[in-house]
Amino acid sequence: MASVELIAVGTELLLGQLLDTNTAFVARELAEIGIDVRGTHAVGDNRERIAETILGVLERRDGAIMTGGLGPTVDDVTKEAVCDALDLGVELYEPALLQMQRFFARLGREMRPNNRKQAELPAGSLPLDNPNGTAPGFVAFGRTGKFVACMPGVPREMKPMLAEKLVPFLIERFAPRDAIYTRVIHTIGLGESEIDHRIDDLFRSSENPKIAVLAHDARADVKIMAKSESTAHAEAAIAPLQREIEQRLAGFVYGIDGATPEGAVHALLRARGWTVATAESCTGGRIAAALTSEPGSSATFAGGVVAYDNDVKTRALGVDIALIEHEGAVSEAVALAMARGARERLRTSLAISTTGVAGPSGGTPEKPVGLVWFAIDAADGRSCAAHVHFRGDRAAVQARATTYALGMLWRHLSRDSLSS
Ligand code: AMP
Ligand code: MG
Repeated sequence: MASVELIAVGTELLLGQLLDTNTAFVARELAEIGIDVRGTHAVGDNRERIAETILGVLERRDGAIMTGGLGPTVDDVTKEAVCDALDLGVELYEPALLQMQRFFARLGREMRPNNRKQAELPAGSLPLDNPNGTAPGFVAFGRTGKFVACMPGVPREMKPMLAEKLVPFLIERFAPRDAIYTRVIHTIGLGESEIDHRIDDLFRSSENPKIAVLAHDARADVKIMAKSESTAHAEAAIAPLQREIEQRLAGFVYGIDGATPEGAVHALLRARGWTVATAESCTGGRIAAALTSEPGSSATFAGGVVAYDNDVKTRALGVDIALIEHEGAVSEAVALAMARGARERLRTSLAISTTGVAGPSGGTPEKPVGLVWFAIDAADGRSCAAHVHFRGDRAAVQARATTYALGMLWRHLSRDSLSS
C-alpha cells in the first residue's frame, strides 16, 4: 500500500489564524481509498523550509500531498519549493493560461504577469485542472519516481480537485487494494460511558472492523470501520456488527451515515402528518434554527416563540404570571405551560419548550447554572417534561440543550410510532 505525508502550507496556519481543515479533509478522503497517511505537517510560506519538508517526506514515503501556496501573490512559493526539492525547471501549461485569459476577459479585468506565473508548472508534471479558480494543481515527479501533489489552499477549489483529479491518479498509480469503509450509527440520549458499557466486549474483540465512539454535544456516534478490498466485502463485515450494536442501543439510534436529529424528527412528523412548534427560553431559538435547517421543513415546522423575558412567556404564550412567580421561570410547571401555549396558539400537533439557566450568572443552589427544563405538549394528551443538568459554559449549555430537545422530540415521536 502506498504511504504519504500531508503538508499544509501557509504562515496563517502557524500563527493560529487559520484552522487547517484541508489536512483533515484530505486525510479522510485518502483513508477511503486505502492510501496510508503516515504524518502531517504545517509549514509557513517559506521556500526553503517547504523544500526541506518535502525532501524529508520523500525520504520516508512514496509521496507528499500538499495544499496551499499556489496563489499569484509573492508569498505563494509552493511551486518554487517543489522545483527546488526535485531539481526541476518550470514549463508553461497552455490550457491553464487559456482558461485564465477567458476568466479575466469575463471579469473585464486585465491579466497580470503574476497570473501568468500560475500557469507554469514544474517540468514533466501531471496538471490537475482547476475549474473553480485560476491556479491549477499538479503532480510533480522526482528522479526516483516519487511524487509531490500540490493543490490550492482554498477548500472550495481543493475538494473537487482532490475528488475528480488527484484521487483517480492515486488509484491508478497505486491500485490500492484495501480501502477503509465506514458506517456511522448516530445515537442520541445515551452518554458515552453508557454506550461503552453496552458495547464494551465488541470493542475489544473486533480488530477489523474496528469500532470507535465519538461523543458530541448530547449525542454520540458509533463508528464501524472495515478495511476491505471491496464494498461488498466491507458490507459483509460491517452488517452483522451494525445489527448487534443497533440492537444493544435500541431506542437511541436515530439514523446512520450522516443522519441528523432534526432530519429524523421531520421524517417522523411527516410520516404522521403532524406539525411542531417551539417555545424557547434559554436556547434562544436554536431549536427552531435546527428544525428549519432541513429542506422542506415548512411542511412540519410551524414556527416558534423565543420567550426569554417572563413578560413574553405570559403575553406570547399565555403562561400565568402567578405560576411563574410561584414555581420560578425554570420549573416543570412553566416548561409545560410554555409548550401548551405554543401548541395552542400556533395550532400544531405538538410543541416543545425549554427554560433553563444558561449561565454564567443566575444560578442558585436549587437551580444551578446548566439546569434546563424541557416539556412537550401534544394534542393527543401525551405530554411530558424532563430536566437535565448540563455541564459546560453558556455556549455548551445552549448547544447541548438544543440537541437534547431534538432527541426528546425524536424519542416522543418514535415511541409513538412503535406503540401504534
Ligand atoms: P493559499 O493557497 O495558501 O494562498 O490559500 C488561500 C486561502 O485558502 C487561505 O487564505 C485560506 O482561506 C484557505 N486555506 C489555505 N490553506 C488552508 C488549510 N490548510 N485549511 C483550510 N483553509 C485553507
Ligand atoms: Mg497563502
